[in-house]
Parts: sequence; structure tokens; C-alpha cells
Amino acid sequence: MKLAIPAPAPVVIPVKGSDAAFPVRRIHCVGRNYVAHAQEMGFTGREPPFFFQKPADAIVYVPEGETGSLPYPVGTSDLHHEIELVVAIGKAGANIKAADAIDHIFGYAVGLDMTRRDLQGEAKKLGRPWEIGKAFDQSAPIGPIVTRQAAGDVENATITLDVNGKRRQESSIQKLIWNIGESIEHLSSFWRLEPGDLVFTGTPEGVAAVVRGDLLEGEVSGVGRLAVRIA
Ligand code: MN
Repeated sequence: MKLAIPAPAPVVIPVKGSDAAFPVRRIHCVGRNYVAHAQEMGFTGREPPFFFQKPADAIVYVPEGETGSLPYPVGTSDLHHEIELVVAIGKAGANIKAADAIDHIFGYAVGLDMTRRDLQGEAKKLGRPWEIGKAFDQSAPIGPIVTRQAAGDVENATITLDVNGKRRQESSIQKLIWNIGESIEHLSSFWRLEPGDLVFTGTPEGVAAVVRGDLLEGEVSGVGRLAVRIA
């Protein structure tokens, strides 16, 4: 059937070392998944995992070695960075057991869960949804996807974020409260996962505000680097 309006462009992320791209279906995000970050947000870090989503078209792909440009979003005066390991799902499944999660993983990427912290804080206070703080346009800068086979030891990788050359966030994927397999187990018990889904696994401590002109450089060892400048 002919389309009544032009179809939206598919959202794709190139796969490193290949001429193929990974088509994005959904973006799931895990909240407060490092104890020290949960604590800096005023929580204990002892709660079950919880999730929120961003729209697929919030993706801003930045090739490795380049610096992407990220417009300072409207409606906020407290834009925060959250550097995260992103898991790319390659095989469908519901009620996936943590031990089997690896079979569902296509690869990994480095992503930023950009957050309008003032709007998120207001939503929390009023018991409203988080979309306005989390799911805004261009809120998910991401680098290329590295396949599971090509990635390093992701479970033990270091994760860092520098702003203007100064270290702001530094931790280890080992410190995830709910590791990759456990996060996929919980997530897939509430949503069926499909190829094309991305899972932002949470950010370590050190989140803070950025302003126009700031250069953000993130890295997950064995996965890659991501650089953006706030415009
Ligand atoms: Mn996050």
C-alpha cells in the first residue's frame, strides 16, 4: 500500500569493521544501576532495577574519531551527561535468563544518556513520567556498534567520561548493580526484546551539568570512544 505521508527515515548505527548497519527499534534504559550514582541521586542502590525508554530517533550517531555536535536542548538549564555502556540486541526473546542473555547480544556501543535534570527532578517530585527529562530529541548520542565477537572483556571494562579534558566519570562495568545478563533478564520479563533494541545499562557516579562549548569524551575499554561538543 502506498504511504499517505513520507515514511520516517530508519535509524541505523554503523557496525565497526563492516559495511553493515544496525537498525534501531527501541531504546531501553536502566535507571540507577551503579551504587555510587544511586547514592549521589539520593537513593541507596538497593532497589530492583527499573527502566525507561527513549525514542529510537533520539539517536545521534557519531563516528569514532570524530566530534559530534549536540545542540543544547530547549526547556532546560541543567543538561547532564551520563556515560553508559550500550548493549545491542540481535536475537528476540522474552523471559530471557541471565545465563542465556549473551546469546541475545549482537554487540556493544558507547552512549550518552543526556538528561534535562531540572525537568526530570520536577517530574520525580510531582510523580509524573520522565519523558520530558530523558526522552527528548537528540538525547542519545552513540558511537559505532562493535560486535560481541570483536569487543574486549566488556564485563570488566573501564568506563570514563572527560569534559574539557577533565575526568568527570570513571568506573568499571564490574560495578553494575544489575550486570548485563541480569538487566536483560529483568527487562525481558516486562518487554519482549527484538533485534534492533538497544539497552543503555546505566551510568556511574559523577554526573554533572554541561554548558555550550563543552567537549565530552567518553570511552568504554574494548568497545570504543564517543566525542561530542555541546553547541
Ligand atoms: Mn542513564
